[in-house]
Amino acid sequence: MANTDIKIVTKTTVSCNGNTSSSGHPNVFLTLDAHTHEVTCPYCSQKFKLDPNAKVSAGH
Ligand SMILES: [Zn+2]
Repeated sequence: MANTDIKIVTKTTVSCNGNTSSSGHPNVFLTLDAHTHEVTCPYCSQKFKLDPNAKVSAGH
């Protein structure tokens, strides 16, 4: 099993329930870091990264 897989997402908020691991964990919502556009799930260490082509409102 590759543990360096990064899930590419198109939203700055993602949910994770650890379904990539054998045990799983309660569903949690994670917010991507505003600067790195990445977040790592504290439960299963799944990495999420924002799709660079995703259109995210910058709040201007
Ligand atoms: Zn997780």
